[in-house]
Amino acid sequence: MKNTKFIFIFLFVSLVFLLPILFALSEDDRQKEILHEGTVVDIINGDVLVLDNSEEIDIAGPHILTKGKNYRPEMAKNIRDLLLNQKIRYEIILEQNKKYQGRYPLHELVVVYLNDKINVNEKLLREGMAYFDYGYYPGVEAYKKLNEEAIRNKKGVWGTTDPPQPIYAREKSWLRYHYVDCKKLKGVRQKDRKYYYYRPKYIWAYHTFDFDCRYCALIEERAKAEGKEIK
Ligand SMILES: [Zn+2]
Repeated sequence: MKNTKFIFIFLFVSLVFLLPILFALSEDDRQKEILHEGTVVDIINGDVLVLDNSEEIDIAGPHILTKGKNYRPEMAKNIRDLLLNQKIRYEIILEQNKKYQGRYPLHELVVVYLNDKINVNEKLLREGMAYFDYGYYPGVEAYKKLNEEAIRNKKGVWGTTDPPQPIYAREKSWLRYHYVDCKKLKGVRQKDRKYYYYRPKYIWAYHTFDFDCRYCALIEERAKAEGKEIK
């Protein structure tokens, strides 16, 4: 009887000590559980991956343009070379919110892993092969930092003879967008301006009151009517 009791206590104590170890061991497996899998069959809108399971996912952090003055073909080629026909794993960090359709992204925002090691989101920004995607989503500050470092260290497109230049400036106080060469921007102090390489693709809830400067918008319209390129 005494022996049985001892064995019971022994088993109980062992379990109490072993359980945390077992959980620690399965941390890797649990990590894998939140990761989805797919093969990239196409890339649309610059950085939206179309998968073989017909899911469309948007890489959070980097943004790649498909047209405009700051379009860089090497960015488009780089992401295709890196991901097309590759098997990837991805974690959804911001789900599509039907309630905010039109304001929030149409695709799930994800972090993409290649060969289980390479964080594609960080890689594209670190190597200067993408613009920083303005917005409010998990990890946004870290992505912004990677982009700033790439610009400072002249990585990728930032090191070319014709590095991208900001096209828009936004007045912080008025939430008004201008072309960088707009006359009306001259009176706005540098520290009250924010520069953009492209017009942010999403109008976020925060940006409800943003508007375009009518002065430079009119100039643009006039130039277009005259067949001139002003961007
Ligand atoms: Zn303006």
